[in-house]
Amino acid sequence: MLRAIWLLILLVLGVWAALFLRQMGGNVEISVGNTFIGVPVWLGLLVLVVGFVVLHGLLSAWKSLRGWPARLRARRAARHRRDGDAAVTRALVALAAGTPDQARLEIRRARGLLGDTPHTLLLTAEAERMAGRNDAANEAFRLLSQREDGKFLGLRGLLRDAMQREDWPAAQRLAREAEAAQPGAAWVREERAALAFRTRDWKEALALSPPGQLTGHRRAALALAAAMQDPDTASSLEKQALSAEPGFAPAALAVARRLAGEGSPRRAKAALQAAWAASPHPDIAEAFLADEPDALARVKAAETLTHENRTHPESRLVLGRTALAAGLTGRARAELEALVSSGQADRRAYLAMVDMDAVELGDSAAGRMAEAKWLRAAASAPPEPRWQCLNCGTVHRKWEPICEECSTPGRIEWTGGGAAKGGAVATT
Ligand SMILES: [Zn+2]
Repeated sequence: MLRAIWLLILLVLGVWAALFLRQMGGNVEISVGNTFIGVPVWLGLLVLVVGFVVLHGLLSAWKSLRGWPARLRARRAARHRRDGDAAVTRALVALAAGTPDQARLEIRRARGLLGDTPHTLLLTAEAERMAGRNDAANEAFRLLSQREDGKFLGLRGLLRDAMQREDWPAAQRLAREAEAAQPGAAWVREERAALAFRTRDWKEALALSPPGQLTGHRRAALALAAAMQDPDTASSLEKQALSAEPGFAPAALAVARRLAGEGSPRRAKAALQAAWAASPHPDIAEAFLADEPDALARVKAAETLTHENRTHPESRLVLGRTALAAGLTGRARAELEALVSSGQADRRAYLAMVDMDAVELGDSAAGRMAEAKWLRAAASAPPEPRWQCLNCGTVHRKWEPICEECSTPGRIEWTGGGAAKGGAVATT
């Protein structure tokens, strides 16, 4: 509207100027050699204006003609982009609906329209993987990993595949590359930790497991497992294991063995005593009494070991057994009877009672009666505690970092009483 008003004003001004000039009269004269042209001023101006308009029109038409192929290309690119985006959306819907063949079709169309972009390559890989064509999926991931903008995504896909194929060396290499491409990515850290567990690289698994996530027995088990793999840092790893679970007998034994080896037998014994106070275990008692050759000295040593938790069933059992071995039957009977009447006795207590009555009563009618009584009690008593995988129930003869039956790391624990879940006894 405003433009129309301006045009009208301009037109009125032009007509007025032309009329004015005509009224004024006057000529424009051009002489070239002998030729002489003379026109009125208004006609001269009119020719000039018309000439300018025609020239401008011609130039504009030429420019528009020259830009035509580029405009055509841009229009085609925009159409491709629109169609490609629509195909990507349809592929995503097909993937979400679990129809990989449809997804592959749409993604092929999208790739034809948009070319190899991180989106189309990633979707290709996912669709191929869903269709069970792992080679084609890996090819797309490989292409993606060669691009600067899609490197991490490509490596992530390849790593996932390598872990599925259980190709551990390739998985470790890819995990390192992914870590370099995206330092500190939580996902890479988790995958590397999982990888370390799968390859039984306990030290790496320990280093990659966040302290908050891995506590208590699992941390202790992992630290001790790492110590068993790496002699260079074993000493500090063993201490780490013991501080994560102060009553963890295998860690206490390892620490004590190391201290004794370093010429500190008193500190070794103190470590065993501390572990016993936290959680009594027969292996600790065995190690504590190992270098006491005299039976009476063993009784004294057992008293020293157990003085923090005198009434614990394991304490009573070790006190009763050492007293019996030293011929202190009165003392042994007091401990073992207290244990039996506490209701916490397992099979070992009743078998110790059999031994004691054999010493006290000998091969007499009373002795045989007592033996039969204790054996019956032993048969129905809970079994002694043992190393058992809490995942599959397998009983192990000694502590191991990983249960070979179910390949679960850090779940073999010292369990008392109740029957094994699986009932299987491994020969490990
Ligand atoms: Zn198991």
